[in-house]
Amino acid sequence: MSVKGKTAVITGSNSGIGLGIAEELARAGVNVILNSFTDSDEDHALAARIADETGVQARYIKADMSKPDECRALIAQAGACDILVNNAGIQHVAPIDEFPQDKWDAIIAINMNSAFHTTAAALPLMRKAGWGRIVNIASAHGLRASPFKAAYVTAKHGVVGMTKTVGLETAKEPITCNAVCPGYVLTPLVEAQIPDTARQYGISEDAAIEQVILAKQPSKDFVTVEQLAGTVLYLCSDAAAQVTGTTISVDGGWSAQ
Ligand code: NAD
Repeated sequence: MSVKGKTAVITGSNSGIGLGIAEELARAGVNVILNSFTDSDEDHALAARIADETGVQARYIKADMSKPDECRALIAQAGACDILVNNAGIQHVAPIDEFPQDKWDAIIAINMNSAFHTTAAALPLMRKAGWGRIVNIASAHGLRASPFKAAYVTAKHGVVGMTKTVGLETAKEPITCNAVCPGYVLTPLVEAQIPDTARQYGISEDAAIEQVILAKQPSKDFVTVEQLAGTVLYLCSDAAAQVTGTTISVDGGWSAQ
């Protein structure tokens, strides 16, 4: 792995998959910048813990990924961005004719538009450094649809399209852009959608997990944060220098069906 000493910005990294990616990159010697919109003592303590445990530089920068100027300010404040992981994301479960517009707008802004703004801001820094890796955390829902998730499915399909385009635009440079498409991982984002999923399908929460969520994954098991973080580290490595503009599914077989 050639990532030692690089600097990574991971959006939405005080929880779940983003935090796991930050920890994995830090263990590989990458200086990491954590982000969320909260700016709590716990957020700064997470960065301090990662620095203590791994010996890399780790800091936390507050930026609300629903706001274009804050997306761009995050990269400007980072100063360097060799690795950009666009991970911040939210979910809302409702039929499209009942979908609240504020939820639609927030999902499109945070899950899709933020990746446009951070990528546009980070590319000049990558070009100056002569090396760059952009990893977009899309979803199996960037390749497949499910009922009641119109905004999320739309945003994640958009991220997959953006990934292909940026991969082409940077193909002649030592910069790659790829998307990881996870299946279900038991993070706060998924835990929060279980009651709504149960209500939409008229079944219990246990049944929602077995009959709706895990039913999509032939493995019949949740993907783990560690499995995703390892995939991101691979995409940042020299071994993946010619892997660009593509998607890697880590979904227990979901997209193979
Ligand atoms: P999570 O809720 O644990 O993490 C979401 C992160 O996004 C948090 O760090 C949160 O602070 C951050 N965030 C939310 N709104 C933000 C905002 N306005 N500005 C900045 N940060 C913000 O959920 P997760 O499952 O770890 O999700 C991470 C990513 O993985 C998301 O893009 C999600 O769509 C994607 N994903 C998750 C799953 C899954 O099953 N958990 C599957 C496929 C894709």
